[in-house]
Amino acid sequence: MGKLELKNITFTYDKNIIYKDLSLSIDNHEFLCVVGPSGAGKTTLLRLLAGFEHQCAGEILYDNKKIINSDTAFVFQNYALFKSMKAKDNIAFGLKNQHMKKEKINLLVDKVSETLSINHLLNRYPAELSGGEQQRVGLARALVRNPKIFLFDEPLSNLDVSLKQNMRKEIKKIYKNSDATFIYVTHDQAEASYLATKILVISKSGIEQYDSPKNIYENPKNTFVASFFGEEKINFLKGKIIKQNNTYYIDYQNNKIKLDYTKYNNLNKYVNKTIIFGVRPEEITFSEEGLKYKIIEDEYLGHKNILKAKINKDTLTILKTNKDSITNQIYFNNIKIFDYKTKENIYYIENK
Ligand code: ADP
Ligand code: MG
Repeated sequence: MGKLELKNITFTYDKNIIYKDLSLSIDNHEFLCVVGPSGAGKTTLLRLLAGFEHQCAGEILYDNKKIINSDTAFVFQNYALFKSMKAKDNIAFGLKNQHMKKEKINLLVDKVSETLSINHLLNRYPAELSGGEQQRVGLARALVRNPKIFLFDEPLSNLDVSLKQNMRKEIKKIYKNSDATFIYVTHDQAEASYLATKILVISKSGIEQYDSPKNIYENPKNTFVASFFGEEKINFLKGKIIKQNNTYYIDYQNNKIKLDYTKYNNLNKYVNKTIIFGVRPEEITFSEEGLKYKIIEDEYLGHKNILKAKINKDTLTILKTNKDSITNQIYFNNIKIFDYKTKENIYYIENK
Protein backbone atom coordinates (compact mmCIF):
# COMPACT_ATOMS: atom_id res chain seq x y z
CA MET A 1 0.00 0.00 0.00
CA GLY A 2 1.13 3.46 -0.71
CA LYS A 3 2.21 6.74 0.53
CA LEU A 4 0.07 9.78 -0.14
CA GLU A 5 2.06 12.79 -1.27
CA LEU A 6 1.03 16.36 -1.91
CA LYS A 7 3.78 18.14 -3.79
CA ASN A 8 3.91 21.94 -4.00
CA ILE A 9 0.17 22.37 -4.24
CA THR A 10 -1.21 25.80 -5.05
CA PHE A 11 -4.96 26.29 -5.10
CA THR A 12 -7.11 29.39 -5.43
CA TYR A 13 -10.81 30.18 -5.47
CA ASP A 14 -10.85 33.07 -7.93
CA LYS A 15 -8.23 35.39 -6.49
CA ASN A 16 -8.41 33.94 -3.01
CA ILE A 17 -5.27 31.87 -2.41
CA ILE A 18 -6.17 28.91 -0.20
CA TYR A 19 -2.94 26.92 -0.56
CA LYS A 20 0.42 28.14 -1.67
CA ASP A 21 3.15 25.62 -2.31
CA LEU A 22 1.76 23.10 0.16
CA SER A 23 3.74 19.89 0.54
CA LEU A 24 2.77 17.01 2.75
CA SER A 25 3.62 13.34 2.90
CA ILE A 26 1.27 10.89 4.61
CA ASP A 27 2.35 7.34 5.27
CA ASN A 28 0.12 4.40 4.50
CA HIS A 29 -2.44 3.54 7.19
CA GLU A 30 -1.91 6.79 9.03
CA PHE A 31 -4.94 8.25 10.81
CA LEU A 32 -4.40 11.90 10.04
CA CYS A 33 -6.62 14.40 11.83
CA VAL A 34 -6.73 17.84 10.28
CA VAL A 35 -7.64 20.67 12.62
CA GLY A 36 -7.74 24.43 12.27
CA PRO A 37 -10.10 27.37 12.46
CA SER A 38 -13.07 27.77 10.19
CA GLY A 39 -12.03 28.96 6.73
CA ALA A 40 -8.50 27.58 7.03
CA GLY A 41 -9.01 25.27 4.06
CA LYS A 42 -9.72 21.90 5.68
CA THR A 43 -12.64 20.99 3.45
CA THR A 44 -10.73 22.26 0.42
CA LEU A 45 -7.87 19.90 1.24
CA LEU A 46 -10.25 16.91 1.26
CA ARG A 47 -11.93 18.09 -1.94
CA LEU A 48 -8.56 18.27 -3.68
CA LEU A 49 -7.74 14.74 -2.55
CA ALA A 50 -11.15 13.49 -3.72
CA GLY A 51 -10.69 15.11 -7.12
CA PHE A 52 -13.71 17.43 -6.64
CA GLU A 53 -11.33 20.37 -7.10
CA HIS A 54 -8.15 20.62 -9.13
CA GLN A 55 -4.98 22.32 -7.97
CA CYS A 56 -3.53 25.17 -10.05
CA ALA A 57 -0.02 23.85 -9.53
CA GLY A 58 1.65 20.83 -8.02
CA GLU A 59 0.60 17.21 -7.91
CA ILE A 60 -1.04 14.67 -5.64
CA LEU A 61 0.42 11.18 -5.76
CA TYR A 62 -0.73 7.94 -4.22
CA ASP A 63 1.74 5.09 -4.34
CA ASN A 64 3.87 7.20 -6.73
CA LYS A 65 1.02 7.49 -9.23
CA LYS A 66 -1.41 10.32 -9.82
CA ILE A 67 -4.28 9.92 -7.37
CA ILE A 68 -7.55 8.82 -8.95
CA ASN A 69 -11.13 9.17 -7.85
CA SER A 70 -11.58 5.51 -6.96
CA ASP A 71 -8.66 5.69 -4.49
CA THR A 72 -10.81 7.78 -2.14
CA ALA A 73 -14.23 7.73 -0.47
CA PHE A 74 -15.77 10.77 1.18
CA VAL A 75 -17.89 10.94 4.34
CA PHE A 76 -19.59 14.34 4.54
CA GLN A 77 -20.54 16.48 7.52
CA ASN A 78 -24.16 16.82 6.37
CA TYR A 79 -24.43 13.14 5.32
CA ALA A 80 -25.21 14.16 1.70
CA LEU A 81 -27.50 11.19 1.02
CA PHE A 82 -29.74 11.12 -2.03
CA LYS A 83 -33.19 11.90 -0.67
CA SER A 84 -35.03 9.94 -3.33
CA MET A 85 -33.10 6.73 -2.70
CA LYS A 86 -33.53 4.16 0.03
CA ALA A 87 -30.60 3.61 2.37
CA LYS A 88 -29.54 0.46 0.53
CA ASP A 89 -29.46 2.28 -2.82
CA ASN A 90 -27.49 5.12 -1.30
CA ILE A 91 -24.94 2.60 -0.06
CA ALA A 92 -24.84 0.78 -3.38
CA PHE A 93 -24.59 3.93 -5.49
CA GLY A 94 -20.83 3.94 -5.99
CA LEU A 95 -20.77 0.24 -6.80
CA LYS A 96 -23.54 0.53 -9.39
CA ASN A 97 -21.49 3.24 -11.06
CA GLN A 98 -18.64 0.77 -11.32
CA HIS A 99 -21.03 -1.63 -13.13
CA MET A 100 -20.63 -4.31 -10.51
CA LYS A 101 -22.99 -7.29 -10.68
CA LYS A 102 -26.21 -7.03 -8.67
CA GLU A 103 -25.57 -10.17 -6.59
CA LYS A 104 -22.14 -8.95 -5.59
CA ILE A 105 -23.49 -5.51 -4.71
CA ASN A 106 -26.16 -7.06 -2.47
CA LEU A 107 -23.57 -9.18 -0.76
CA LEU A 108 -21.32 -6.20 -0.06
CA VAL A 109 -24.19 -4.01 1.13
CA ASP A 110 -25.32 -6.76 3.51
CA LYS A 111 -21.83 -7.20 4.88
CA VAL A 112 -21.23 -3.51 5.52
CA SER A 113 -24.71 -3.15 7.05
CA GLU A 114 -23.81 -5.94 9.45
CA THR A 115 -20.62 -4.14 10.46
CA LEU A 116 -22.49 -0.91 11.16
CA SER A 117 -25.68 -2.54 12.55
CA ILE A 118 -27.96 -0.87 10.02
CA ASN A 119 -29.62 -3.92 8.41
CA HIS A 120 -33.01 -2.85 9.71
CA LEU A 121 -32.68 0.58 8.07
CA LEU A 122 -31.91 -0.48 4.52
CA ASN A 123 -35.40 0.02 3.11
CA ARG A 124 -35.90 3.46 4.60
CA TYR A 125 -35.50 6.80 2.89
CA PRO A 126 -33.12 9.39 4.42
CA ALA A 127 -36.09 11.42 5.73
CA GLU A 128 -37.08 8.37 7.82
CA LEU A 129 -33.67 8.20 9.50
CA SER A 130 -32.26 10.12 12.47
CA GLY A 131 -29.06 12.13 12.08
CA GLY A 132 -27.00 9.36 13.62
CA GLU A 133 -28.60 6.75 11.35
CA GLN A 134 -28.02 8.90 8.29
CA GLN A 135 -24.38 9.23 9.18
CA ARG A 136 -24.10 5.46 9.55
CA VAL A 137 -25.51 5.09 6.06
CA GLY A 138 -23.02 7.72 4.87
CA LEU A 139 -20.23 5.75 6.50
CA ALA A 140 -21.50 2.50 4.95
CA ARG A 141 -21.52 4.12 1.51
CA ALA A 142 -17.83 4.99 1.90
CA LEU A 143 -16.86 1.70 3.54
CA VAL A 144 -18.50 -0.50 0.91
CA ARG A 145 -16.24 0.93 -1.79
CA ASN A 146 -13.20 -0.35 0.07
CA PRO A 147 -11.11 2.69 -0.81
CA LYS A 148 -7.43 3.18 -0.16
CA ILE A 149 -8.06 6.56 1.43
CA PHE A 150 -11.03 7.62 3.55
CA LEU A 151 -11.84 11.31 3.66
CA PHE A 152 -13.99 12.47 6.56
CA ASP A 153 -15.25 16.05 6.81
CA GLU A 154 -16.36 16.63 10.41
CA PRO A 155 -18.59 13.56 10.18
CA LEU A 156 -19.78 13.66 13.79
CA SER A 157 -20.26 17.37 14.32
CA ASN A 158 -24.04 17.22 13.92
CA LEU A 159 -24.51 14.38 16.41
CA ASP A 160 -25.20 14.60 20.12
CA VAL A 161 -22.50 13.80 22.65
CA SER A 162 -23.22 10.15 23.48
CA LEU A 163 -23.85 9.19 19.87
CA LYS A 164 -20.65 10.98 18.94
CA GLN A 165 -18.65 8.91 21.40
CA ASN A 166 -20.10 5.64 20.09
CA MET A 167 -19.39 6.58 16.49
CA ARG A 168 -15.86 7.62 17.39
CA LYS A 169 -15.22 4.17 18.82
CA GLU A 170 -16.68 2.56 15.75
CA ILE A 171 -14.60 4.62 13.37
CA LYS A 172 -11.50 3.68 15.34
CA LYS A 173 -12.46 0.02 15.10
CA ILE A 174 -13.00 0.31 11.36
CA TYR A 175 -9.57 1.94 11.09
CA LYS A 176 -7.92 -0.85 13.05
CA ASN A 177 -9.52 -3.52 10.88
CA SER A 178 -8.53 -1.77 7.69
CA ASP A 179 -5.27 -1.04 5.94
CA ALA A 180 -6.50 2.19 4.38
CA THR A 181 -5.30 5.70 5.16
CA PHE A 182 -7.76 7.87 7.08
CA ILE A 183 -7.87 11.64 6.70
CA TYR A 184 -10.29 13.16 9.13
CA VAL A 185 -11.20 16.80 9.58
CA THR A 186 -12.52 17.75 13.00
CA HIS A 187 -12.76 20.90 15.09
CA ASP A 188 -12.89 18.78 18.23
CA GLN A 189 -9.42 18.49 19.71
CA ALA A 190 -10.43 15.65 22.04
CA GLU A 191 -11.69 13.69 19.04
CA ALA A 192 -8.42 14.34 17.20
CA SER A 193 -6.36 13.17 20.16
CA TYR A 194 -8.47 10.03 20.49
CA LEU A 195 -8.34 9.04 16.83
CA ALA A 196 -5.16 10.41 15.31
CA THR A 197 -1.80 8.84 14.74
CA LYS A 198 -0.75 12.20 13.26
CA ILE A 199 -2.23 15.65 13.55
CA LEU A 200 -2.05 18.43 10.98
CA VAL A 201 -2.77 21.89 12.35
CA ILE A 202 -3.50 24.41 9.61
CA SER A 203 -4.42 28.07 9.60
CA LYS A 204 -4.99 30.59 6.83
CA SER A 205 -1.23 30.95 6.55
CA GLY A 206 -0.69 27.25 5.88
CA ILE A 207 0.69 24.36 7.91
CA GLU A 208 1.31 25.33 11.52
CA GLN A 209 2.48 21.89 12.66
CA TYR A 210 2.37 18.32 11.41
CA ASP A 211 3.27 15.97 14.20
CA SER A 212 2.27 13.18 16.57
CA PRO A 213 -0.58 13.99 19.00
CA LYS A 214 1.93 13.84 21.86
CA ASN A 215 4.26 16.40 20.28
CA ILE A 216 1.41 18.69 19.34
CA TYR A 217 0.39 18.78 22.98
CA GLU A 218 3.80 18.76 24.64
CA ASN A 219 5.87 20.66 22.11
CA PRO A 220 3.58 23.00 20.21
CA LYS A 221 5.55 24.86 17.57
CA ASN A 222 3.98 28.24 18.28
CA THR A 223 1.32 29.98 20.36
CA PHE A 224 -1.31 29.19 17.71
CA VAL A 225 -0.87 25.42 18.06
CA ALA A 226 -0.49 25.69 21.83
CA SER A 227 -3.83 27.45 22.16
CA PHE A 228 -5.58 25.08 19.77
CA PHE A 229 -4.79 21.97 21.76
CA GLY A 230 -5.63 21.23 25.36
CA GLU A 231 -8.92 20.61 27.10
CA GLU A 232 -8.90 24.06 28.67
CA LYS A 233 -7.10 26.82 26.85
CA ILE A 234 -3.44 27.31 27.78
CA ASN A 235 -2.56 30.44 29.80
CA PHE A 236 -0.21 32.88 28.10
CA LEU A 237 1.71 35.25 30.35
CA LYS A 238 4.31 37.89 29.78
CA GLY A 239 7.67 37.74 31.52
CA LYS A 240 11.34 38.48 31.17
CA ILE A 241 14.22 36.04 31.12
CA ILE A 242 16.90 36.79 33.71
CA LYS A 243 20.12 35.03 34.58
CA GLN A 244 21.63 34.93 38.04
CA ASN A 245 24.49 32.69 39.17
CA ASN A 246 24.24 30.64 36.02
CA THR A 247 20.57 29.92 36.56
CA TYR A 248 17.81 31.16 34.33
CA TYR A 249 14.57 32.53 35.67
CA ILE A 250 11.46 34.14 34.34
CA ASP A 251 10.81 37.42 36.04
CA TYR A 252 7.05 37.41 36.27
CA GLN A 253 5.46 40.32 38.09
CA ASN A 254 8.51 40.52 40.37
CA ASN A 255 8.38 36.81 41.14
CA LYS A 256 11.32 34.70 40.09
CA ILE A 257 10.31 31.45 38.42
CA LYS A 258 13.27 29.14 38.13
CA LEU A 259 13.78 27.43 34.80
CA ASP A 260 15.39 24.07 35.03
CA TYR A 261 15.07 23.12 31.42
CA THR A 262 18.04 21.32 30.08
CA LYS A 263 16.45 21.40 26.65
CA TYR A 264 16.66 25.16 26.40
CA ASN A 265 20.28 25.97 25.85
CA ASN A 266 19.71 29.10 23.85
CA LEU A 267 18.10 31.01 26.69
CA ASN A 268 21.19 33.20 26.82
CA LYS A 269 19.95 34.99 23.74
CA TYR A 270 16.78 35.95 25.59
CA VAL A 271 18.36 37.27 28.78
CA ASN A 272 16.74 40.57 29.80
CA LYS A 273 14.24 40.18 26.99
CA THR A 274 10.49 39.94 27.19
CA ILE A 275 9.02 36.57 26.28
CA ILE A 276 5.62 34.93 26.36
CA PHE A 277 5.31 31.83 28.44
CA GLY A 278 2.54 29.30 28.35
CA VAL A 279 1.24 27.19 31.20
CA ARG A 280 -1.56 24.68 30.73
CA PRO A 281 -4.38 24.79 33.30
CA GLU A 282 -3.74 21.13 34.17
CA GLU A 283 -0.07 21.86 34.78
CA ILE A 284 -0.60 24.32 37.59
CA THR A 285 -0.39 22.76 41.04
CA PHE A 286 -1.13 24.06 44.50
CA SER A 287 1.95 24.42 46.66
CA GLU A 288 3.36 25.87 49.85
CA GLU A 289 5.80 28.03 47.96
CA GLY A 290 5.18 29.81 44.71
CA LEU A 291 2.93 32.51 43.35
CA LYS A 292 0.22 34.12 45.43
CA TYR A 293 -3.16 34.31 43.75
CA LYS A 294 -6.81 35.01 44.38
CA ILE A 295 -9.67 32.83 43.15
CA ILE A 296 -12.38 34.87 41.45
CA GLU A 297 -14.44 32.06 39.88
CA ASP A 298 -14.98 28.40 40.66
CA GLU A 299 -16.85 26.21 38.22
CA TYR A 300 -17.75 22.79 39.64
CA LEU A 301 -17.87 20.01 37.04
CA GLY A 302 -18.07 16.90 39.24
CA HIS A 303 -14.75 15.26 38.58
CA LYS A 304 -12.92 18.58 38.44
CA ASN A 305 -13.20 22.30 38.98
CA ILE A 306 -12.20 25.02 36.59
CA LEU A 307 -10.88 27.94 38.56
CA LYS A 308 -10.18 31.47 37.45
CA ALA A 309 -7.42 33.01 39.52
CA LYS A 310 -5.96 36.49 39.59
CA ILE A 311 -2.30 37.27 39.92
CA ASN A 312 -2.33 41.05 39.97
CA LYS A 313 -3.91 41.99 36.65
CA ASP A 314 -3.54 38.59 34.96
CA THR A 315 -6.35 36.05 35.00
CA LEU A 316 -5.31 32.40 34.85
CA THR A 317 -7.32 29.25 34.34
CA ILE A 318 -6.46 26.41 36.72
CA LEU A 319 -7.77 22.88 36.51
CA LYS A 320 -8.29 21.36 39.93
CA THR A 321 -9.01 17.65 40.21
CA ASN A 322 -10.83 16.17 43.20
CA LYS A 323 -7.51 14.91 44.56
CA ASP A 324 -5.96 18.38 44.75
CA SER A 325 -6.32 20.42 47.89
CA ILE A 326 -6.17 24.15 47.59
CA THR A 327 -3.29 26.05 49.18
CA ASN A 328 -2.40 29.72 49.13
CA GLN A 329 0.14 29.49 46.39
CA ILE A 330 0.52 27.92 42.98
CA TYR A 331 3.39 26.42 41.09
CA PHE A 332 3.86 26.03 37.34
CA ASN A 333 4.87 22.44 36.59
CA ASN A 334 5.67 22.92 32.99
CA ILE A 335 6.44 26.10 31.12
CA LYS A 336 6.64 26.64 27.38
CA ILE A 337 8.54 29.71 26.26
CA PHE A 338 7.68 31.63 23.11
CA ASP A 339 9.50 34.38 21.27
CA TYR A 340 7.63 37.62 21.96
CA LYS A 341 7.65 38.76 18.33
CA THR A 342 7.43 35.58 16.24
CA LYS A 343 5.30 33.62 18.75
CA GLU A 344 7.44 30.58 18.04
CA ASN A 345 8.31 28.09 20.73
CA ILE A 346 11.98 28.78 21.40
CA TYR A 347 12.58 25.04 21.62
CA TYR A 348 11.83 24.90 17.90
CA ILE A 349 13.90 27.93 17.00
CA GLU A 350 16.79 26.20 18.68
CA ASN A 351 16.29 22.87 16.90
CA LYS A 352 15.78 24.29 13.43
P1 ADP B 1 -12.68 25.02 6.36
O1 ADP B 1 -13.23 23.71 5.92
O2 ADP B 1 -11.34 24.94 7.01
O3 ADP B 1 -13.64 25.81 7.20
P2 ADP B 1 -12.84 25.67 3.52
O4 ADP B 1 -11.89 24.75 2.89
O5 ADP B 1 -14.29 25.34 3.41
O6 ADP B 1 -12.42 25.92 5.04
O7 ADP B 1 -12.66 27.12 2.90
C1 ADP B 1 -11.41 27.77 2.78
C2 ADP B 1 -11.62 29.12 2.15
O8 ADP B 1 -12.09 28.98 0.83
C3 ADP B 1 -12.64 29.99 2.86
O9 ADP B 1 -12.16 31.31 2.86
C4 ADP B 1 -13.87 29.85 2.02
O10 ADP B 1 -14.66 31.00 2.11
C5 ADP B 1 -13.31 29.68 0.64
N1 ADP B 1 -14.18 28.82 -0.19
C6 ADP B 1 -14.61 27.58 0.09
N2 ADP B 1 -15.37 27.07 -0.90
C7 ADP B 1 -15.43 28.03 -1.87
C8 ADP B 1 -16.05 28.13 -3.15
N3 ADP B 1 -16.77 27.12 -3.66
N4 ADP B 1 -15.88 29.27 -3.84
C9 ADP B 1 -15.16 30.29 -3.34
N5 ADP B 1 -14.53 30.27 -2.15
C10 ADP B 1 -14.67 29.17 -1.41
MG1 MG C 1 -15.04 22.72 6.36
